[in-house]
Amino acid sequence: MTRLTRPDLDALPAYVAGRTVPGAIKLASNEVPYGPLPGVVEAVTASISGAHRYPDPGATALRTALSERLGVDADRIATGCGSVALTEHLFRVTCLPGDEAVYAWRSFEAYPIIAATTAATSVRVPNTATHAHDLRAMAAAITDRTRLVIVCNPNNPTGTACRRAELDAFLDAVPPTVMVALDEAYREFVTDPDVPDGLEVYGDRPNVVVLRTLSKAWGLAGLRIGYLVGSPEVAAAVRKVVTPFSTSATAQAAAVAALRASDEMQRRVDLITAERERVVEAVRKVYPDVPDTQSNFFWLPLGDAAVDFAAKCEESGVIVRAFAGDGVRVTISSPGENDAFLDCL
Ligand SMILES: *Cc1c(COP(=O)(O)O)cnc(C)c1O
Repeated sequence: MTRLTRPDLDALPAYVAGRTVPGAIKLASNEVPYGPLPGVVEAVTASISGAHRYPDPGATALRTALSERLGVDADRIATGCGSVALTEHLFRVTCLPGDEAVYAWRSFEAYPIIAATTAATSVRVPNTATHAHDLRAMAAAITDRTRLVIVCNPNNPTGTACRRAELDAFLDAVPPTVMVALDEAYREFVTDPDVPDGLEVYGDRPNVVVLRTLSKAWGLAGLRIGYLVGSPEVAAAVRKVVTPFSTSATAQAAAVAALRASDEMQRRVDLITAERERVVEAVRKVYPDVPDTQSNFFWLPLGDAAVDFAAKCEESGVIVRAFAGDGVRVTISSPGENDAFLDCL
């Protein structure tokens, strides 16, 4: 057969999404279980009457709302079709073919796929024995070819978080010519006061960008919207490479409505983080090495038993996310759904 696509793609693993099985409890994709925030359905419905028009490519209303919430100028914000898309855009604005991107491993499985498809070279730095980023080793892995370092804080899928002192030292060690992306998809679930808000604490460093999403705490995973905050130059570069019109008018309207419901978002997040304490304590009675988590999920370091464990849970109607040979990630949900998982143990 004639080959029409790049041969190197054959070696690239496909992104494995958390599975949705009708009738089963899904604890596989770190979603929040309570439905869209108040006002979102109305905003989406209203936006549909304009569906024959292109969306605002500058996402003006949304960037204004984000600018007010975050206390940063709108010219420092870029929005995208999920923060995964923004991560890809960041690779495109930093890395030429062969340039290096440093990230921890295991971390978010989108990174190696994005690196490979944008022709960047992945430099994976193994996590510590307690499943956290090894920031010293990450700083030491930076070479003349490094253009981008990603810190996933808290880390997906292990839930671990980097604290203030180690992040300060790390950022001081990174050359100013290397961009550092703080992927804070789960920022809203952080309760440890020692885990810094990347935007508040490091946002003024010119080589730092912060990635956030409306998919998790804000409950809009299905509408695909995320944002990035960086220097005005970096944000402008990202806005240049965004696929034109890739954030739909509906997603923009939904995000603006969701941001207005921040009290309810916080209430839901508080329910999840309270459940997190309860569930992790119960799980540790069986699996004591569950690492501390600052996210809406936790990590079971089961090694070779991971796939079997997930299959057993599925037989009991609970879908969790296995990473073959490594571990299982379980999303914290409502008390009833969490109890269904605990029953699987
Ligand atoms: C979920 C997640 C994202 C955001 O995904 P989008 O739905 O594309 O916004 C980004 N980074 C990490 C680590 C995630 O787990």
